[in-house]
Amino acid sequence: MKIVLLGPPGAGKGTQAKSICNRFSIPHISTGDIFRKHISEMTLLGIEAKKNIDKGLLVPDDITIQLVEERLKQEDCNKGYLLDGFPRTVAQAKALDNFLVKNNDSLTTALLIDVPKDFIIERMSGRRVCLSCGASYHNKFNPPIIEGKCDVCGSDVIQRKDDEESTVRNRLEIYDAQTQPLINYYRDKNLLSVVDGTQAINDVFKNICDILGREINDNYKE
Ligand code: ADP
Ligand code: ADP
Ligand code: ZN
Repeated sequence: MKIVLLGPPGAGKGTQAKSICNRFSIPHISTGDIFRKHISEMTLLGIEAKKNIDKGLLVPDDITIQLVEERLKQEDCNKGYLLDGFPRTVAQAKALDNFLVKNNDSLTTALLIDVPKDFIIERMSGRRVCLSCGASYHNKFNPPIIEGKCDVCGSDVIQRKDDEESTVRNRLEIYDAQTQPLINYYRDKNLLSVVDGTQAINDVFKNICDILGREINDNYKE
């Protein structure tokens, strides 16, 4: 099963990705998490990416595409994977298509978590994340059991610098201009499925499982 998760920042991609990947035993590939790891380790890539991320801008396509291709070549991706936060531009989507074609492969579905803009600011301003394992929390909708500590790994949960309201507005504009066109891109390829992301976290997950179950049956894929 090879899934691309689409949706605006704050839609719930990271939250749902964790549950989907647990349920279907596939790796969760989050370009945001990979960049944040590079930033915390102060690698050259991290230093370069941080300049864009802190302003709410996208990391350049060439850097991002190379990073993802290298990740997808790793053995754990043979059975499938979930891409969260990639592709974010049409150029990235085309690069992914080329990569799949070269490997005689195809996507199972591009799953859009559909959430209108009015929900986003509240979700992003309350978001807290674990930099160790990438788990995402919300101080009102999904707080960790012990305040300030990750349920999964016990590390500190923090507010991301790029979740400040002014940066969030930039990111939403960039989403509209650069990432939203991917909805039609995948619809035209008959690969788009849509889930209503305004529901409670567990209900969104139930709907996603229904959708993925259907896709698996329709396509006779694992
Ligand atoms: P969110 O969960 O809010 O959608 P992410 O954690 O996916 O955000 O990404 C954080 C930031 O990392 C983005 O705002 C962008 O600067 C950078 N980034 C992540 N994925 C990509 C990508 N595919 N292309 C370019 N930049 C990216
Ligand atoms: P994305 O990866 O798409 O940027 P996240 O999964 O990080 O989004 O979710 C953004 C914020 O919204 C987090 O604080 C998360 O706990 C919260 N959240 C996610 N899904 C829901 C939901 N269905 N209802 C309410 N809050 C949610
Ligand atoms: Zn954690």
